[in-house]
Amino acid sequence: MLIHNTLESNRVYAAKLADSAGQFFDSAKQQLSYSAGLMAGHVDDAATLQAEAERLYRQTDSFNSAVIVNRYGQVLAASPDSLRLKGARLDSPGARQALQERCPLITLPYLSASNNLVVSLSYPIFSADNRYLGYVGGALYLREKNILNALLGEHYYNDGSYLYVVDSDRHLICHLTPERVGEVVNDNPVIEAVIQGKAGVQRLVNSQGVDMLAGYAPVPAAGWGVVAQRPTAATLAELDDKMLAIFIRALLFTLVTLPLIWFFAALISKPLWQLASNAHRMDSDEVHHHITGIHSWYYEAAKLKRALLRGIGLLHEKISQLNIDSLTDSMTGLLNHRGMQVSLEKYREKQQPFSIIALDIDHFKAINDNHGHDVGDRVIKSLARLMRDNSRETDLLCRSGGEEFMILLPDGSLDIAVQIAERLRACTESQAIPDVGRITISLGITHCPPDIENLKLALKIADMALYEAKKQGRNRVVRSPDGLRFVTAGQKKST
Ligand code: GH3
Ligand code: MG
Ligand code: MG
Repeated sequence: MLIHNTLESNRVYAAKLADSAGQFFDSAKQQLSYSAGLMAGHVDDAATLQAEAERLYRQTDSFNSAVIVNRYGQVLAASPDSLRLKGARLDSPGARQALQERCPLITLPYLSASNNLVVSLSYPIFSADNRYLGYVGGALYLREKNILNALLGEHYYNDGSYLYVVDSDRHLICHLTPERVGEVVNDNPVIEAVIQGKAGVQRLVNSQGVDMLAGYAPVPAAGWGVVAQRPTAATLAELDDKMLAIFIRALLFTLVTLPLIWFFAALISKPLWQLASNAHRMDSDEVHHHITGIHSWYYEAAKLKRALLRGIGLLHEKISQLNIDSLTDSMTGLLNHRGMQVSLEKYREKQQPFSIIALDIDHFKAINDNHGHDVGDRVIKSLARLMRDNSRETDLLCRSGGEEFMILLPDGSLDIAVQIAERLRACTESQAIPDVGRITISLGITHCPPDIENLKLALKIADMALYEAKKQGRNRVVRSPDGLRFVTAGQKKST
């Protein structure tokens, strides 16, 4: 935008000055034309001619010198006097051209007789009967103060902007540097365009290697061109200043906002980070407690927290359900063999003394055979219920396999275990089961001290006591206080 604006303002400026220059030439031509008309009747009147030359030179600033020349090139009158031209015969290119062409003329720059670089304007003098009598001429000294310089050349700025004028032969007519006036500039695209009568804009590198933004306009009356230009760097310097100002402001803004951003980012990410670090140890027992303690202060984090807690709840519920399932017998709801092993292991770890009652349904095969397997199952379930009814909360009831069971009684002595076993036995015997009738069970008991090492052996001893009860005729309790020494207790039969 800056480049465009600069090009455009240079174009407008060049056009305006070209127009002013055109107006100067028109007015100069009018002056010369008027003088030529006046002098047509006075070519032999030296005083009048001299007075007219004086007037042309002095009345306005249009010319640096004025001459009236006869048809042979001889100076009839000249002003200022310091030129000492009067009576001389002119042989300059300007004079020759004027005498030859005999029409209104603006010459190319040339070195005058008085060694000035000049451009001369001339108007022919014709008599009333149209005989060529000579011409009236006014000269502009290009390297001295002249009206064109005043009009064009002094308009430049401090930032490297300037203006120059070229003629149709690419001579510099006006230039910021007076020494360059008269120089021929070739290969400059702007000059080429303007001397072809074109107006416009162009960015170019000038003969001094400076990147320039030029606007140009022709002066048709003289075949000249006016070029106004400004260095691109000067134009873009404004941009650099603006960019620097913006950068400094942005930097200050960033320095202020960065800590704020960091602070809020930390505030936002903290609950997320805490949730994430707890999420990968969801199976640990304390994770629920940890997550509950997280301060999730915004909606999304609160939702995540709720979801995690819910997930953990479900997970733990599922895990404990699976744990229970894996340790429980599905038919009776008692501990299965594995559950029993786990419980025994706990007792051993805690050095817990306990008693074992092993029990087995008597003649169960016959029940199956007589009433069917389903009824057999029902009998097993009934016995499990009876066991539950006859035990304390701390007792562990296990279905160790088929129609065989174990009861683990923490604390308590062997005698108490015998009492409990006996009560269960009596209870079983006394209650009739629908379709089957009464059943009996045999029970073997042993006691384990706190320092027991060989659990397998303890179970085996209880089993052996049970075997002994079977052997002794079933429906009885046999206890084994230590090793293979069996003592039976029972209502019906005792050994
Ligand atoms: P004993 O008095 O010597 O114990 O004689 P018993 O007929 O009870 O003999 P034993 O204890 O060896 O019989 C076990 C039978 O229990 C064998 C099997 O058919 C039956 N049984 C084992 N598990 C189940 C079960 O889950 N349901 C049913 N209906 N029967 C089972
Ligand atoms: Mg059995
Ligand atoms: Mg049996």
